[in-house]
Amino acid sequence: MTKRMINLLNLDQEDLAAFFTTLGEKSFRATQVLQWIHQVGITDFDKMTNLSKSLRQRLQLETCLAFPTLVNQQISQDGTYKWLLQLDNNNYIETVFIPEDDRGTLCISSQIGCALECSFCATGKQGFNRNLTVGEIIGQLWLAEQTLRQEEIFCQTNPNRAISNVVLMGMGEPLANFNNVVKAVKLMQNDFCYGLSWRRVTISTAGIVPAISRLKTQCSANLAISLHAPNDELRNQLVPINKKYPLNQLMAACRDYVNHDARCRITFEYVMLKEVNDTPAHARALLKLLRGIPAKINLIPFNPFAGSTYQRSTPEAIEQFRDILMQADVLTVTRKTRGDDIDAACGQLAGKIQNRRQPMIFI
Ligand code: SAH
Repeated sequence: MTKRMINLLNLDQEDLAAFFTTLGEKSFRATQVLQWIHQVGITDFDKMTNLSKSLRQRLQLETCLAFPTLVNQQISQDGTYKWLLQLDNNNYIETVFIPEDDRGTLCISSQIGCALECSFCATGKQGFNRNLTVGEIIGQLWLAEQTLRQEEIFCQTNPNRAISNVVLMGMGEPLANFNNVVKAVKLMQNDFCYGLSWRRVTISTAGIVPAISRLKTQCSANLAISLHAPNDELRNQLVPINKKYPLNQLMAACRDYVNHDARCRITFEYVMLKEVNDTPAHARALLKLLRGIPAKINLIPFNPFAGSTYQRSTPEAIEQFRDILMQADVLTVTRKTRGDDIDAACGQLAGKIQNRRQPMIFI
């Protein structure tokens, strides 16, 4: 690809319609091209037969569809897939597919590395290089969907598709790459692309408060907050962005996010770290913190990685913690550890990152 070529994968429907207008074409060409790429899986402009021959030639000369390169695939004993994808300059990211009986969930990355340095996360230990482009975010979904279709893996609830749900829980902080993430989410939800409902796309954040407030005005998606601690003192240690956006601000943003929308409930993720945040007193403090917010809690047993200093809470401690929350009528699910034999579990994605630099700029 030459530098002057436009990568159409970076454009959402609106951008694409504007692009075709500049070519003197009708804006509905945008939906036709999106269908070819994302629904049919065709990337050769010459095969996009409802476009005129001259337009196809022009697209071939002036544009490209540049995807990340799939360089490695690992399959866990439990059926979880992990792909290593190469981007430019020898940067690599990871994408994970988690098949379940009633759904197929793709966990995608939003940045090369992460600048937030949560103390229990492998990605945070890798440093940060840059934000992913729209094409690199949506390209993960495209590559995964095409690869799984070739392997004839389809979702039970939608026999034409392998992937029914997307979670932005891979490498990086999605809300620190706001504009590109929003455009990619819109493509995921676009009926000419993947047609996923807002409930099936989850954006997980460590708590970039101004971006949470902006998100609601830009797109609809499930929001997950990586909470991990019920008080500022502990959260400052585990999730250092808390020093910038402490719990009172974060909880206010959550209240505001669900306000006036009866369908909306926030998922709070809580990594279970042995004797750090897993006592009954922590559970009770958590209940107090979340009072009044429509919430679901996901307890994530800590997944160790090379060099990590924490330990996973005991099954008894996790059960006791869960019981306290459930007795207070807060829906609480202990997340099953999937793909840990291939280092594909939560917080284990490391990729390979060149030119790490810190810090990053928040919107
Ligand atoms: N930056 C975003 C999304 C990435 S991580 C966020 O913080 O939400 C997805 C989830 O995995 C987060 O809740 C994160 O805190 C959690 N996580 C990170 N490292 C983990 C580990 N080693 N074990 C279990 N969960 C982990």
